[in-house]
Amino acid sequence: MRIGILALQGAFIEHEKMLWQLGVEAVEVRRPEHLDRLDGLIIPGGESTTIGKLAVEYGLLEPIQEMSRAGKAIWGTCAGLILLASGLSGGRGEHKDPPLLGLMDLTVARNAFGRQVDSFETDLVVPALNAVSTPDEAGRPFHAIFIRAPRIESVGPGVEVLAHLEPALSEVEGDGTVVAARQGHLLVTAFHPELTADTRFHRYFLSLVS
Ligand code: GLN
Repeated sequence: MRIGILALQGAFIEHEKMLWQLGVEAVEVRRPEHLDRLDGLIIPGGESTTIGKLAVEYGLLEPIQEMSRAGKAIWGTCAGLILLASGLSGGRGEHKDPPLLGLMDLTVARNAFGRQVDSFETDLVVPALNAVSTPDEAGRPFHAIFIRAPRIESVGPGVEVLAHLEPALSEVEGDGTVVAARQGHLLVTAFHPELTADTRFHRYFLSLVS
C-alpha cells in the first residue's frame, strides 16, 4: 500500500511518521506526477490558504479531484478538511478564502472556535474506530487536539458523522459540533490525530483504502 501525503506546507511529517509506524509506504506529494500509483492521499493540517494556493500553482487540484473520482481514499485533517469541503461559511478567517476541492458535501467555517480557544484538547467518543481497535483499545475515547480548527457547519445526506464534541466530555465548545465525518472513501477530521500516539484514525483511514 502506498499513501501520499500532500507536502506543500503544514503537518505532513507527522502523518508520515504515523504511516511508517504502521508499516505503510508514505510518499510526499508536491507535483501531479507524485500522485501516480497511490492508493490514498492525506491532506494535512496547516494553513489552508497557503496549501490551496500552492496546490493551484502546482496544478494539483484537478488531479486530486480525479483521484477521488477513481475512488481512491482521501483524508483531510484540519486545513485538509477545509480543502475537501464543498463550501465555506462565515467564520473568522483572517486571510482570503482558499480554493476548495469541493469533494465532500459539507460546509465549514474557518477558525471558528474563536480567539480565546484557538487550541484545545478533548476526548471524543468514536464508535467507528472499534472496527480497527484491539480489544484493549475498544471503546476508549480518542484524545483530539484542535488547533485553530475549522468548524463543520453542515453536512449533506451522504455524509456519515463519526464524532462530535460531547457536551459531557468536552471542556470547550461541548455543543455537539461535528468534528469527524466520512463520505464513502473520503474522511475528514477537524483535529490532529497525527499529533498523538494513537494510531486508530490512521488505521481507520487505511481501512477505507481498497
Ligand atoms: N486555521 C487553519 C486554516 O484555516 C487550519 C488550522 C490547522 O490546520 N491546524 O487553514
